[in-house]
Amino acid sequence: MIYDLIVIGGGAAGFFAAIACAEARPASRILILEKNPAPLAKVRISGGGRCNLTHACYDPAILIQSYPRGSRELLGAFRRFQPRDTVNWFEARRVPTRVDAEGCIFPASDDSRTIINCLLDEAARLGVEVKTEAGVSSLRKGEHVSFEIETGNGDRYLARNVLVATGGGRTLSASPYGWAEALGHTIVPPVPSLFTFNIADPRLEGLAGVVVEDAIAQLPDFGLEQRGPLLVTHWGVSGPAVLKLSAWGARFLHDAHYDAVLRVNWLPAFHTDSLYHALLSIKENLPKQKAAAQDPNRKIPQRLWARLALAAGIAENQAWGDVSKHAINRLAGELTRGEFRIQGKGVFKDEFVTCGGINLKEVNFKTMESRRCPGLYFAGEILDIDGLTGGYNFQAAWTTGWLAGQAVAGADVV
Ligand SMILES: Cc1cc2nc3c(=O)[nH]c(=O)nc-3n(C[C@H](O)[C@H](O)[C@H](O)COP(=O)(O)OP(=O)(O)OC[C@H]3O[C@@H](n4cnc5c(N)ncnc54)[C@H](O)[C@@H]3O)c2cc1C
Repeated sequence: MIYDLIVIGGGAAGFFAAIACAEARPASRILILEKNPAPLAKVRISGGGRCNLTHACYDPAILIQSYPRGSRELLGAFRRFQPRDTVNWFEARRVPTRVDAEGCIFPASDDSRTIINCLLDEAARLGVEVKTEAGVSSLRKGEHVSFEIETGNGDRYLARNVLVATGGGRTLSASPYGWAEALGHTIVPPVPSLFTFNIADPRLEGLAGVVVEDAIAQLPDFGLEQRGPLLVTHWGVSGPAVLKLSAWGARFLHDAHYDAVLRVNWLPAFHTDSLYHALLSIKENLPKQKAAAQDPNRKIPQRLWARLALAAGIAENQAWGDVSKHAINRLAGELTRGEFRIQGKGVFKDEFVTCGGINLKEVNFKTMESRRCPGLYFAGEILDIDGLTGGYNFQAAWTTGWLAGQAVAGADVV
C-alpha cells in the first residue's frame, strides 16, 4: 500500500494537516504515525487542561508581532488561515469557543478534551488512519516511491508525500532533525523559549505572589525590554512581562547560560529623574509620614515597596522628612532601574516551546513543502517558529498544518 500522505506526529499540526488534506481530496490515503499510546497529548495538557487554542487577534500584520521567530514567513500564511478561521473551523464542527479578558480563546467547555474529540472524530469521519505506538525511526527517500518510513517496531511504510510534524526538539540530536538534515535541510539549534527567571535576591525573598500590574522588564545586555504584569515567585520572577522577555531573549539567554542582568522599572510612568523630583515633593508635603510604609502612588504592593525602600537605605520607621536627598535618589533608582541577577530559568506551568528547528528559508510557506526535497512537508513546532503564550503556538500549528494539507491535496495555492 502506498499512502498519498503519511504524517509523522499526531499532534495539533499533524491532525490538522491530515484532516485538511482528506477534506480537500477525499480519495487520498492518509496515515498518521504517532509514537505515544494516545495522540494529541500536548493538546490535552495545554492551557492547564483547557487548551488555549488561539488568540483573538484577527489582523495578520498585528498577529505576527507575537512571534519572536517566524513572523515574516507567517504573514502570508496567516492571510490564508488565521485565528478567525480556526474559530470558524471548530465552531462549524460544533465546538463553540469563548474569549477571555486577555484575548485568549478556549473551547466554551473549558476542557481540552473537546478539541481532541473533535479532531479524532473528524479524522475518523474522513477515513484518516491513525497508528499509535508507532514511533518513526527512519525516513528516507525511496527508490521507487518518494519516501520509505520505518517505525521502531520494524513496520515499513511507503508514501508519495510525507509531513514531518513531530513538534519541538530539545537537542539537535533529536531524530526528526537528523532525517531533515539527511534530506538537505539545515537546523537552527533548538533552545527553550517561554520560561521564568530564577533570581535569589533579598529584595524579593518571601514575597512570592506579589504582583505589580504594570512594570517594564529589561535585559540591558541584549537591548530587550517588555512591559506588563510582573509576578514575584518562590524562585524569582514570572508574569507576562518576564515570559515575553524570555521568548524574545531565548537564544541570547541560552548562550549566556541563563546568567544575565534583569533591570526593572516598577513605575513605568517615571524615569529616575522625574521620580526623584516627585519623591522630593512628597518629602516636602508629607514630612511626617513613614517613607517605607507605602507607595504614595499606590502602584506597588506594600511589602515590595518596603523592601525597595530598605534597599535604598531607608529605615522602617523613618519619616519622609528625615530621608536624605541621597536616599531619595537611591530609592528613585531602585524603583525605576533596579537590577537583579538572573541565575537560571524556571518553568511556567510546565509550558514551554522550542526556539529553533527547520530553517524557514528552506520551506515554501505557500505550501509548507521543503525547498530541498519535493514531497516533504513540515508543520508546527518542528519549524523555527515560536510564539508568546496566549494561543499563538497552536495557531502556528493549525495554520502551517492546514496549508500543508491543502497543498498535498493539490488544492489551489493562492
Ligand atoms: C504544558 C504545555 C502547555 C501548552 N499550552 C499551550 C496553550 O494553551 N496554547 C498554545 O498555543 N500553545 C501551548 N503550548 C505549546 C503547544 O502545545 C505546541 O506549540 C503545539 O502542541 C505544537 O504542535 P505540534 O503539532 O507541532 O507538536 P506536538 O503537539 O508536540 O505534536 C507532535 C507529536 O509528534 C509525536 N512524535 C514525535 N516524534 C515522533 C516520531 N519519531 N514518530 C512518531 N511520532 C512522533 C509526538 O509524540 C507528538 O504527539 C503548550 C505547551 C506545553 C508543553
